[in-house]
Amino acid sequence: MDGLYDYLIVGGGVVGCCIARELSRYDAKVLLLEKECDVAMGTSGRNSGVVHAGFYIPQDTLKAELNIEGHKRIPTLCKEVGAEYIRTGKLVVAKKEDEIPYLEELRARGERNGTRGLKIIGREEIKKIQPNIGAVKALYSPTSGIVDPFQLTIGLAENALMNDAEIKLNTQVTGVNPGEGSFGVETSGGVYETRYLINCAGLYADRVSAMAGVDGYRIYPCRGEYHILDKRVGDLLNTLVYPVPPKDSGGLGVHLTPTVDGNIMLGPSADYIQEVCDVCNTPDVMEQLYVEASEMLPSLKRGDFIRSFSGIRPKLVPEGSGETADFVVREEYEGFINLVGIESPGLTAAPAIAERVINLICGREELRPKKDFNPLRKGPVRFSSLSDEEKASLIGKDPGYGEIVCRCETVTRKEVLDALNNPLGARSMNAVKVRCRASMGRCQGGFCWPKIVELMDEEKGVKNIRLSCFGSGMFVGGTKDLRRNK
Ligand SMILES: Cc1cc2nc3c(=O)[nH]c(=O)nc-3n(C[C@H](O)[C@H](O)[C@H](O)COP(=O)(O)OP(=O)(O)OC[C@H]3O[C@@H](n4cnc5c(N)ncnc54)[C@H](O)[C@@H]3O)c2cc1C
Repeated sequence: MDGLYDYLIVGGGVVGCCIARELSRYDAKVLLLEKECDVAMGTSGRNSGVVHAGFYIPQDTLKAELNIEGHKRIPTLCKEVGAEYIRTGKLVVAKKEDEIPYLEELRARGERNGTRGLKIIGREEIKKIQPNIGAVKALYSPTSGIVDPFQLTIGLAENALMNDAEIKLNTQVTGVNPGEGSFGVETSGGVYETRYLINCAGLYADRVSAMAGVDGYRIYPCRGEYHILDKRVGDLLNTLVYPVPPKDSGGLGVHLTPTVDGNIMLGPSADYIQEVCDVCNTPDVMEQLYVEASEMLPSLKRGDFIRSFSGIRPKLVPEGSGETADFVVREEYEGFINLVGIESPGLTAAPAIAERVINLICGREELRPKKDFNPLRKGPVRFSSLSDEEKASLIGKDPGYGEIVCRCETVTRKEVLDALNNPLGARSMNAVKVRCRASMGRCQGGFCWPKIVELMDEEKGVKNIRLSCFGSGMFVGGTKDLRRNK
């Protein structure tokens, strides 16, 4: 099918998309396959969006090295692919005196790893940075930041497409047949031939690895649940606020995270589960998140929660082992590059992981840079964040900017159309939402969904409109076809 590819990437998460974009710099045939109907549908769309500065990770690990390197690269990368990045800084707060030694430990580890600017600060300085936080002392990391993980992943994918990489959505890899100098890759959409196979399947990376003949990896899924708060209380938080993590937890503790769009997220929890796809929210955990977050930010109110979600960590060690596993990024045998256990800080590390994969390839063959590689992709217009003059000018150019579709987030008809016309051809309500924010606000689509459905139908002829991917059809049939009666 479609001839021999040089590089076939399995998985359209941030890591796979970053690798596709890096490879699209070179004279090569690149294909990315994603089983879902959009990119960023796995862990890459279900995380805290924090650009970690590298002080949590044990020293002398690949994870620490790639975290530090990725942290350096993310601001430029975001600028290039049109994704928002904000350097917010981070406080890791000690609520009690006996937690202070842990802050010292983190600072020392960070300094060994190469994190810059870490300092331990007292109550007064904490209040200057984040007035409403109660803490005895805190570790302050001025270089920590946040990104929109959807925009970053979509931006990388679109930039790769601009540079002639191919991306096939709704295409699940089901089998791999290693041959002489190439692989036959069986998928739900036919068989592809490739010289290199790059496994970036996230929570399913152990299965794809086994398909390619490398057994022995096992992913233990560990779920993290979150609450999202209404933007109207977004001003409660300027910076990332983390607790001292509970001992032997699979995560960093329930933290307060501002988003680039002005919401606050509370979470995540850390619970080992059986199924890698079980992204539900559970009442007990949701209550516990509120209790723990209120200890740091007492003014929190349940009435400010507008949504919840969860993400799953692809851990390589089981619950209670007391161990942490390193990232696996290696060429297992000629042509098969395996990425397994890419849990946090995989979002931050993605650009450095991609660079490492390129280096593995360069160890075997020469990559010829393309003369016309274009690293720049324009990000979407955010009408709501513009000045009145800018808004008026845009409306003058296109009246679609003068029609508000989503009232909560002030998203215009033109922005929804841009989301529908994106190069990946996203066709679900969620795909529209993560591109232009329509339905991300307080009413969660109560007002704008009918309008978006109408636009999808009228502009793109989409009939079987889905909330997300397979099995999420929104309509079973027509009750009244208003347009027929016009
Ligand atoms: C709760 C939580 C919080 C986190 N917070 C942060 C943070 O603040 N900062 C940070 O740096 N990192 C964070 N992370 C980690 C980060 O989200 C991940 O490391 C990163 O998203 C991993 O990206 P990926 O591309 O490897 O995997 P994914 O995003 O999971 O992508 C893998 C893709 O492969 C596809 N796929 C799987 N099998 C197949 C197949 N057979 N055929 C085709 N496609 C397939 C999947 O559908 C999926 O889209 C967090 C993770 C969690 C769970």
